[in-house]
Amino acid sequence: MRWRDTKESQNIEDYRGRGSGGGGGFRGVHLGLGGIVLAVIAYFVGGPQLVMSLFSGAGAPQSEAPVAAGSPDDESGQFVAHILGDTETTWSKIFADSGQQYVEPHLALFSEGKNTACGYATSAAGPFYCPADQKVYIDLAFFHQLETEFAAQGDFAKAYVIAHEVGHHVQNLLGIADRVHAAEQNAHTEAEANRYSVRMELQADCFAGIWAHSADSARQLLESGDIDEALTAASSVGDDTIQKRVQGSVNQESFTHGSGAQRQQWFRRGYDSGSVQACDTFK
Ligand SMILES: [Zn+2]
Repeated sequence: MRWRDTKESQNIEDYRGRGSGGGGGFRGVHLGLGGIVLAVIAYFVGGPQLVMSLFSGAGAPQSEAPVAAGSPDDESGQFVAHILGDTETTWSKIFADSGQQYVEPHLALFSEGKNTACGYATSAAGPFYCPADQKVYIDLAFFHQLETEFAAQGDFAKAYVIAHEVGHHVQNLLGIADRVHAAEQNAHTEAEANRYSVRMELQADCFAGIWAHSADSARQLLESGDIDEALTAASSVGDDTIQKRVQGSVNQESFTHGSGAQRQQWFRRGYDSGSVQACDTFK
């Protein structure tokens, strides 16, 4: 992807190296295999319960000065700023076209751990979106895991992850997140709640596809192989793929993000159509 040709977001908050867990160092690289699997479970497979178990309200260090939003200078920080910037271009236009205003989310880069409006998060939580402060949180160590553990190579695999999290922000702005969470609360069984979660996640994948559509058709930023990179990533992080790896078998009722094939299918639907209406995973 020709990502340097995109608008550079000024909405990055860079907390890297300010780890608030004490002790310094870069915990991501010391996680070991169990930690790596856990990190990916939380983001791609874990339901709200599992993700929340990686957050803790207690014992979180409070001495964390906020940093001003801007754009980092280093290569990987630049990449994130440009992808986020291009999602801003995409969604600002889509919202404006329907007479609405897009509120740009901030994206916090962190290492080790971070206080958020959703609680204290460790890197093991994986990339996530916190609706309470409208921020995407990413420890870039996750991108390394994506390549090494999940064989999801290439810049577009990483861009898909960012665009997926931004998709959750769009769901929040559109009021979809609130409605779904209410439905989840009223669900009678865990399997039923999980089905809502899957639809949310697949819609975020579809919204990521809408971003890819816009980057491609309006700005010609994609290079050959980019869509395949995203589709490979979507497949390798499907619930079935990960469950097979982690527990050796597949239990469809416990899916919270959708199978690899479903995730590919919805990303592609967004990419082919470029239309929010086409992303109604709740129908
Ligand atoms: Zn998600």
